[in-house]
Amino acid sequence: MSNKFVYVFGPSKTEGAADMKDRLGGKGANLAEMCRLGISVPPGLTISAEVCTVYTEQGADAVRKLIESEVLQGVAFVEKEMGKKFGDAADPLLVSVRSGSRASMPGMMDTILNLGLNDEAVVGLTNKSGNERFAWDSYRRFIQMYGDVVMGLKPESKEDHDPFEVIIDEIKEKKGVELDTQLEVADLKHMVSEFKALIRNRLGREFPNNPWDQLWGAIMAVFQSWDNDRAKLYRKMNDIPDSWGTAVNVQSMVFGNLGDHSGTGVAFTRDAASGEDIFNGEFLVNAQGEDVVAGIRTPQQITLEGSRRWAQLAQVSEEDRRSKFPSLEELMPEIYQQLLKTETALENHYKDMQDIEFTIQEGKLWMLQTRSAKRTGAAMVRAAMEMLQQGLIDEKTALLRVTPDRLNELLHPVFDRQAVKSARSIAHGLPASPGAATGQIVFFADEAEEWVAKGKTVILVRQETSPEDLRGMAVAKGILTARGGMTSHAAVVARGMGKCCVSGAGSVRVDPKARTMTVGGKVYKEGDWVSLDGSTGQVYEGQVPTKDADLSGDFGKLMELAERYKRLAVRANADTPEDARVARNFGAVGIGLCRTEHMFFEGDRIKSVREMILAQDEAGRRKALAKLLPMQRGDFEGIFKAMDGLPVTIRLLDPPLHEFLPHDETNQREMAKEMGLSYEEIKNRVDDLHEANPMMGHRGCRLGITYPEITEMQARAIIEAALNCKAQGINPKVEIMIPLVGTVREFNAQAKVIRSTAEAVFAERKATIDFMVGTMIETPRGALVADSIGKQAEFFSFGTNDLTQMTLGFSRDDIGKFLPVYLKDGMYEQDPFQSIDQKGVGQLVQMAAQKGRSVRANIKLGVCGEHGGDPASIDFFHRVGLDYVSCSPFRVPIARLAAAQAAISNK
Ligand code: ADP
Ligand code: MG
Ligand code: MG
Repeated sequence: MSNKFVYVFGPSKTEGAADMKDRLGGKGANLAEMCRLGISVPPGLTISAEVCTVYTEQGADAVRKLIESEVLQGVAFVEKEMGKKFGDAADPLLVSVRSGSRASMPGMMDTILNLGLNDEAVVGLTNKSGNERFAWDSYRRFIQMYGDVVMGLKPESKEDHDPFEVIIDEIKEKKGVELDTQLEVADLKHMVSEFKALIRNRLGREFPNNPWDQLWGAIMAVFQSWDNDRAKLYRKMNDIPDSWGTAVNVQSMVFGNLGDHSGTGVAFTRDAASGEDIFNGEFLVNAQGEDVVAGIRTPQQITLEGSRRWAQLAQVSEEDRRSKFPSLEELMPEIYQQLLKTETALENHYKDMQDIEFTIQEGKLWMLQTRSAKRTGAAMVRAAMEMLQQGLIDEKTALLRVTPDRLNELLHPVFDRQAVKSARSIAHGLPASPGAATGQIVFFADEAEEWVAKGKTVILVRQETSPEDLRGMAVAKGILTARGGMTSHAAVVARGMGKCCVSGAGSVRVDPKARTMTVGGKVYKEGDWVSLDGSTGQVYEGQVPTKDADLSGDFGKLMELAERYKRLAVRANADTPEDARVARNFGAVGIGLCRTEHMFFEGDRIKSVREMILAQDEAGRRKALAKLLPMQRGDFEGIFKAMDGLPVTIRLLDPPLHEFLPHDETNQREMAKEMGLSYEEIKNRVDDLHEANPMMGHRGCRLGITYPEITEMQARAIIEAALNCKAQGINPKVEIMIPLVGTVREFNAQAKVIRSTAEAVFAERKATIDFMVGTMIETPRGALVADSIGKQAEFFSFGTNDLTQMTLGFSRDDIGKFLPVYLKDGMYEQDPFQSIDQKGVGQLVQMAAQKGRSVRANIKLGVCGEHGGDPASIDFFHRVGLDYVSCSPFRVPIARLAAAQAAISNK
């Protein structure tokens, strides 16, 4: 800890600067920086955030002892700058007390204005300003804020109104006026005494009359607010360490409530919603503090252009606009010019979009805050690309300006912004897969298909989804489930499909028998319209119009730029030609994971699959597999065509066989009928296949090793498809991947089947094609012996979903019961299925990569788990030197940007 705790800022001396946010907080550091730039800022002092820790650990007395003399010196500095004295009754210096931490943080203490006023000073202020109304308005505001924020006078219950506002309303009602600007001095004086009485009666304490008591009370209240529940929760949610603390700013007041030549406002240097380079903002005449955002009066626009746009939206005639809501540009043209100059200077200085707060006191402009503006994903992209073009920032900075995950907002259809405002939200679930969707409710996957075939748009509503619902999910506009988390089947599959999904909407009761869902007592039937926002988790009643994403323009430019900086290649996980096309459009340079089992569910294939599973012997299995062969071959041809010239990694069959069989009696009976078998036969076979822990059971290469004919059929389908494509002038780049390998012998056994099948096909066709055989590294043992496997395998693809599951000993399907607690208690910092556990699982990846390279220098290394689309994981994969990541098609742009950022940040 340093031994300086107070930093002053003002025209004649400024001790802080923008790069001192750790100590001064964002607000304090930027106030100092603005002073350094020669911008007019009311002088003040900032108490370092380090003092906050002293307060938390040792309390108010220790703080006072530590900083009292520095605060006195600081106040003396401000007094000199302003030519007024704090606590002087005749011409009082008034101050605001403002909190401000390193990261901007809602939930912290509200600002207190006009501190230093009391029964004597209000008279002095009246005499000095010649404006009694102003003096008493300031005084009543001060008591109200101080009473609430520092003294803690809150509504008695959450249903109650703010007791101060109740008094104001009573007085206004008695006078028959609507706005507080219409109140007279006598009313304000009355208000002051009512406020004080309220405090006395409710708290049993007097409102402090001594300005120094007021000041110390406010300073301690700021420190205290760092530990309030709201602030703590916000920090937890946003990974802000408790140890940062908040700084306190004590700043001399400027007054926007001095009459018609005064006012206060907020502005943005660009449009924070669209990113358009247009100065914009709002202000109020004769107002103070947060009046603009509080919505007490309708604020006016700053620019004439903005004012005209506003009038059009608000349906205000040009005449009314000019007379009742003129822009600052029209009303105070000189101030407007100064503000314009200042906003330009600030943006040029910070080289980023700014969000600024200002006050006009009797024709003089004062800046009170500037900070980097919060913005939408679209605005991030547009502003970054335009600032690059304007020469304000360089390419690397432009790339770092966009948060990869926020690109999500640009890739999927979205609701019309106006329409969603008037839509009725009926339920809230998890934002499982982004996008906006509107459609008619159906409760069954096959019915979804039927309805869509008839040209309808549907939302599939299920208690939870299973692999049997895949086809229904594929045709639905969106998916709503009552159960399941962010990694539930519905969520994972929907993200893979780039399909809007809201999962785990607990208040939705689904009754598939009755074909209804009930929410909050209201029943929705099959065919009723609902709309889902997969980015927020909101479920709306009825049809909310959506519009498509636009991927050209600035977005395209950003992607081009990312391409030039990144080292990691980005592939996609795609199982169908359609997915492959989407992925290619988004810039994927290959398929890192094509899951063949997804093809098994399509159309009538499931019948042949089931036939294969039910076969008594190899001959029976071969007969069923022969039916699947042409279908699989056709699928692979489609994918090779879509990915002409780009590598396609095809994974051999992976899931346990029982996933392809029905588990309830109705469906088993139906299947028995279809296959000409008895219900008991089906039931027995399903029971046979039952496993206590299927994820660790008969799956992956274990299937191919026990039933080599399955691998044989798949290898044949792949090689034949590749030869067929080659004959048509297409260039397939085939990579065959063996799943769940733990020992090199498993790999060798399967590789042998693949290679000899390929030789057989080559001989039959009198043609050959190059292909690679590699493996997934997804069991801890596989990672441990990666050097022995690497001698045989031509590539590794890290299956980080299974690898995480097995390394942590967490079942992905059962984490819902404990992971929330684990995250809350900090057992793990993040959901290890969303962002790779770098210290544990990551170590296995790093080690296996090294081992693989040690035996095969050019071994191709990639990742195909969900982590392949997570920016923090991508940074890790870049650092350990992998060649590519593979993710769902809709995350490809996110991964490309994240890969570029990783390359820039790890230089
Ligand atoms: P927040 O962190 O919520 O933005 P601020 O500390 O910026 O809170 O204060 C809110 C508003 O109070 C400011 O935008 C400004 O209008 C007003 N305000 C704060 N300090 C002063 C001051 N010294 N003089 C005039 N107005 C002030
Ligand atoms: Mg502010
Ligand atoms: Mg796996």
